[in-house]
Amino acid sequence: MRKLLYLMAVMGVLVTAAPSSAFAKVNIFACEPEWAALAHEIGGDLVDVTSATNARQDVHHIRAKPSLLAAMRKADIVLCTGASLEIGWLPILLKKAGSPDVQPETMGWIMASDYVEKLEVMQKADRSMGHVHPEGNPHIQLDPANIQIVADVLADRLFMVDRDNAQNYSRNLNVFTKKWLAAMARWEGDKAVLRGEKVVVYHKSWAYLLKWLGMVDVASLEPKPGIPPTASHLEAVLVAIDGQDVRAIIMAPFENEDAAKWLSDKSGIPVVQLPFTVGGNDNADDLISVFDETLRLLKGAS
Ligand SMILES: [Zn+2]
Repeated sequence: MRKLLYLMAVMGVLVTAAPSSAFAKVNIFACEPEWAALAHEIGGDLVDVTSATNARQDVHHIRAKPSLLAAMRKADIVLCTGASLEIGWLPILLKKAGSPDVQPETMGWIMASDYVEKLEVMQKADRSMGHVHPEGNPHIQLDPANIQIVADVLADRLFMVDRDNAQNYSRNLNVFTKKWLAAMARWEGDKAVLRGEKVVVYHKSWAYLLKWLGMVDVASLEPKPGIPPTASHLEAVLVAIDGQDVRAIIMAPFENEDAAKWLSDKSGIPVVQLPFTVGGNDNADDLISVFDETLRLLKGAS
């Protein structure tokens, strides 16, 4: 049943808590599937998790719809990426439906990106640069070291919000950490062949992944972050990558394939759709398999 509920949550179906349970669970409102998955790992049976979005949605553009307001209303912890990623909808949800315990800077409010070293932090940003994130690139979930950092933060908060169960959270964190460190060690071996390899990206969603892998992005299909690809920009990209040995054009499940396909047809470089988050393809059904799949697909492309 938990597995089913979890799948429903990942699919974006909102799961409501059992009414007036004698053992009230901690309700965690996660903005993205990766944080929902992490909340399940650390919270186990003691939490109910809602994922506000699924892997097929572009989190930059979500509506603060009534089902999300309902989920926010019962949230004990809000676990989101931050760094303006959810700027278009999370503040509205918090204002309209969030309890005092989950408002900014309170115990129940966790912005994952606050705890990691962000890439692409800007001194100055303006509209001419496109839909940029001035606090730095928010797409932090594809560096596995960041996942561990957020796991530690979440466990700390759960200790505070639900003291009676602190030991259980501590045990879950230990189990997760052991599993995660083992996976990271395994990925070190897997990723060696990708070091120094070049890719074209769709959006700047992959900065952390590429840094972790030692890969280089030589162009973006978007002319500016958040601005859809244009014919003239794609022509320019085609010229720019001419003669470069580019391994793949990588994109997320929610991005439009047309531009990537056009460039692939002209250049012969394969398009590789990576899971990006939990649920991003059929095999990527938890955090470890997101990275397993990402490495498998990148290694398979060339
Ligand atoms: Zn972005």
